[in-house]
Parts: sequence; structure tokens; C-alpha cells
Amino acid sequence: MVKKIGIVGAGLSGLAAAIELKNKGHKVKVFDQNPRVGGRVQTDQVEGFRLDRGFQVLLTSYPLVKKYLSLPGLKLAPFKPGALIYNSDSKKFEKISDPFRDPGATLATLFNSYASFKDQLLILKLKNQTRNFNLKKASGVPTHTELKKFGFSEKFIKNFFIPFFSGVFLEKNLETDSNFFKYLFSKFNTSYASLPEKGMGEIAQLMSQKLSPEDLQMNTQVLKMTKDSLHFGQTSENFDHVICALDQTSATNLLGEELSKTNDFRPVTTYYFHSPSHKIASKYLYLIKDKSINHIACLTAVQKSYAPKGLQLFSVNTLSHKLPVSEIRNELSEIFGAKEILKWTHLKTYHVKKALPKTSLYLKQTLKKSGIYFIGDYTQHPSIQGALNSAHQLIHEL
Ligand SMILES: Cc1cc2nc3c(=O)[nH]c(=O)nc-3n(C[C@H](O)[C@H](O)[C@H](O)COP(=O)(O)OP(=O)(O)OC[C@H]3O[C@@H](n4cnc5c(N)ncnc54)[C@H](O)[C@@H]3O)c2cc1C
Repeated sequence: MVKKIGIVGAGLSGLAAAIELKNKGHKVKVFDQNPRVGGRVQTDQVEGFRLDRGFQVLLTSYPLVKKYLSLPGLKLAPFKPGALIYNSDSKKFEKISDPFRDPGATLATLFNSYASFKDQLLILKLKNQTRNFNLKKASGVPTHTELKKFGFSEKFIKNFFIPFFSGVFLEKNLETDSNFFKYLFSKFNTSYASLPEKGMGEIAQLMSQKLSPEDLQMNTQVLKMTKDSLHFGQTSENFDHVICALDQTSATNLLGEELSKTNDFRPVTTYYFHSPSHKIASKYLYLIKDKSINHIACLTAVQKSYAPKGLQLFSVNTLSHKLPVSEIRNELSEIFGAKEILKWTHLKTYHVKKALPKTSLYLKQTLKKSGIYFIGDYTQHPSIQGALNSAHQLIHEL
């Protein structure tokens, strides 16, 4: 039987739910308060630059990415696997890479002062053990504890795992569940972190093209919802089913009842700079420890389309509150030299307060309360795959 389904939220989970249910023959209508689809995955065009709202990458090894997206349409370009780690004593960067996927970096990786031979062997062991890791449940063990148990040296954890994964988890203590770490580690090892030609926001744009314009109603805030109706102030609309595809705070507010253990989020701040200088245009991510800056990416080294011809675009990321640009510039000068940073122009800063849900892994089949279906990354795990999977689960329900 064809059902009329109302979906609140046109982030990746809401869009995936609409695609999934439309393919099953149902009539769908998605409402979002914003003028653009994508929720937390957005790209702005500013002075000819493509600025993602917060540094973000796509891992093509996420199983559902291929289901909901035509990857060739995104024209993805990859970062190099591994990273350049800043050594504040020598004031130099040391390379750590994957010798199998980046053979040119094998020697640099072998003679890295942060990774002992044992650490390098353990990386290979972890790679083998986590191949095709299936994220079914939380381990209850923090990532940092698991890495120590696995045998990695404190030096390697401090200098590689913490700066790399704090940029992914958006927290510096690696207290995130180790099963989520293993899952992401396996995904980083089986694909490249990539950027679409038109920016990360293109992911949502391509997904929305699988729907008809009348399936989407933007600039529409939902003020109240029941299991079979949505209310928008003066008007309302009835449905056979209602799906709530919001972040956990907005969903909790609309329901008037707690949905997850915590409503907190992990924030991130991205400072964009451009420069005519190519000196530090690298396809590796720069990892910085013991400073406010956590990681730096030269986006144009990966995707030229992120900046007008002849300019490089840099994304500088901190996990702290928004800092004055002068403070960021000072740190950048210490790292890359004042002469180089004088050539950099600050373009825009994004402070994303609600970047990732601070929640233990939920991984529930489907979250249903008061007859309403709840989807979104907080019902699975904080990632693009988590958001898509929460929608994918609905196949079994509707
Ligand atoms: C800066 C940043 C970096 C990230 N990096 C990565 C990464 O590298 N890799 C990765 O896999 N994941 C990353 N993520 C996580 C990933 O982007 C999210 O997990 C995912 O996009 C969440 O999608 P969602 O549909 O669950 O929620 P959302 O994207 O939050 O969608 C919710 C939608 O609901 C709408 N809405 C809210 N209230 C109402 C209302 N009352 N009425 C109507 N509409 C409403 C909002 O406008 C929004 O469009 C990152 C996120 C951020 C912010």
C-alpha cells in the first residue's frame, strides 16, 4: 500500500530516508528550516573559494555511500594516506604513511622518530585485525585504553593517534569507544579521504537530485509533530507516518522527551586562509600537537577547484572555542615561519558548535517513540555512514 510519509530534516539521514522510501513506492515530503539541503554537510561559495562548513572528508569505503551516491558524479580527489606530524623540537614535519598505498613514503615512515619498529609492526597487525571490521556494538573501552592494551608506545599514541583521531572524533583524550575507532581505522585503510570537486555540500545536492522538487519543502520549520501530523505554525499536514531526521537536540525539543543519554555536541572551528605561495601545498594532512591548532589541510593540493586559479586554500582547525585570528596566525608562524604566513590572508572562520553528537554508540535498529521514527547520526554513530545507515534501517520498518 502506498503511504504518505512526512520527513522532518533534509540532512543526509532525511534525504536517504526519502530516497529509500520513494524507491519503495511511497509518497514522501521532506521539510527543512534551511534554504539548502545537507544539514551539517554544506559548502559556501565565498569570493570564488569553496568553503566547507567545517573541515570534512568523504570516505568512499563507507558501505552506504555507494548506495545513495554516484561516486563518479562527485569527481572525488584523494588526500594521501598518512600525515605530516609537526615536531616542535626540530621545527620540522615527519611523514608517516602507508607503505603499501604510498610506496614513495616508505623510507620516511621507517625512519620516523615517533614510530618505533614495534609500533610499525603493530600498525600492520591492527590493519589486518580490523579489515572489514563490523560495527555491531560498543566495546565500552575508550580508544586510548585499547591502543595501550594493543601495545603501542605512549610516544606513538601521543604523536600520531591523538592528533589524527582527535580531528576525527573532535576530542583530544580519545575517550570515544574503541569499536568506533576500529571501524574508522578500517575505513581509512580501505579508501582515501576525499573531497568532491564542488565541495562536500555536493554530496547532499546529488542525493536531492534523486527526489522531485515537490518532494522537498525548504525554509519550513516544523514546530510540532505527532505520529501522523506535522505542524508549521498556522498550518499543518497529515501523514500515514512521520520520520524525524534532526540532530538530537532539535529532535528532543520537538518531542519534548529525551532521546539519547546526552544532548551535548563536540564543536570544531575551521579558519580558512588563502595564499599565492605553493611552499606548503601538500596532499598530506598536517598534524599539530601541543598547540591550539589540531590539524591543517591544503585543500587545493587535493582539489584545485576549491580556489581561484593561482591561489592555495588552507583549512586550519581547532577543537577549542573560537580564537582570535591573530592567535592562529602566531601559531602558524611558529610552525611554518613568519615569512610564509605573512603571505596568508584570512578569508572566513566557521565555528561549528553542533558538529558531532557527544554520545556513546547507539546502534539501535530503529528508534521509535510515540509512534514517530527517529533517525540521524546520533541514533547510530557520528559520521556520514551513521546518518545514512539510520535511514537505511527503515527499509525493514516501512
Ligand atoms: C564540521 C564537521 C565535520 C565533520 N566531519 C565528518 C567527516 O569527515 N566524516 C564523516 O563521516 N562525518 C563527518 N561529520 C559528521 C556528519 O556530517 C554528520 O554525522 C551528518 O551530516 C549528520 O546528518 P543528519 O542527517 O543526522 O543530521 P543534520 O545534518 O544535522 O540534519 C538535520 C536537519 O534538520 C534540520 N532541522 C532542524 N530542526 C528543524 C525543524 N524544527 N524543522 C525543520 N528542519 C529542521 C536542519 O536544518 C538540518 O538540515 C562532520 C560534521 C561536521 C559538522
